[in-house]
Amino acid sequence: MRLILLGPPGAGKGTQAQRLVEKHGIPQLSTGDMLRAAVQAGTEVGKRAKAVMDAGELVSDAIVNAIVAERIDQPDCAGGFILDGYPRTLVQADAVESMLSERGIGLDTVVELVVDDRALVGRIVKRADDAKAAGQPVRKDDNPAVFEERLREYYKKTAPLTGYYYAKGKLKTVDGMASIDAVTAEIEAVLAAAVKAR
Ligand code: AMP
Repeated sequence: MRLILLGPPGAGKGTQAQRLVEKHGIPQLSTGDMLRAAVQAGTEVGKRAKAVMDAGELVSDAIVNAIVAERIDQPDCAGGFILDGYPRTLVQADAVESMLSERGIGLDTVVELVVDDRALVGRIVKRADDAKAAGQPVRKDDNPAVFEERLREYYKKTAPLTGYYYAKGKLKTVDGMASIDAVTAEIEAVLAAAVKAR
């Protein structure tokens, strides 16, 4: 199973991806997590990405494409993977096409979590509060000011991907405002249909 989770920041992609990992035993490839790990480790990529991420802007296509291309060749991706937060631009979407076709594999489906923007800032603030309460580090970009920029980047650069995948017949939309369990159930139904249609 190879799928993409699409949706604005705070839509619940990470939460749903974790559930899919448990149920299907395939890894979650979150470029955000990978970039934060690179920042933490102080690698060259991390150094280049840090300021951009802190500002809520997008890291360059070349950097993220290279990270993902390397990651999908790892043995744990052989049975499939969940792309979470990638692709985020049309250039990245084209890169996914090439990466997959070069490897002779395809994409099963693209699931878009459709949410009400007004609820998103509240979710981000809650995520920061929850992390603080659990004694975990709070993401620097999980605050209302940076969030606005992340949302702008989403509409400018990522939202066009819904048209891109719709035109390919790959796009499925799910109501991201429903309860976490209901969203999971809807995604599972989409995946079951995609497998059946193979
Ligand atoms: P996320 O954890 O998915 O919200 O990503 C956090 C930040 O990492 C984003 O605001 C971007 O700065 C950067 N980032 C993550 N994924 C990508 C991507 N596919 N393309 C460009 N930048 C990304």
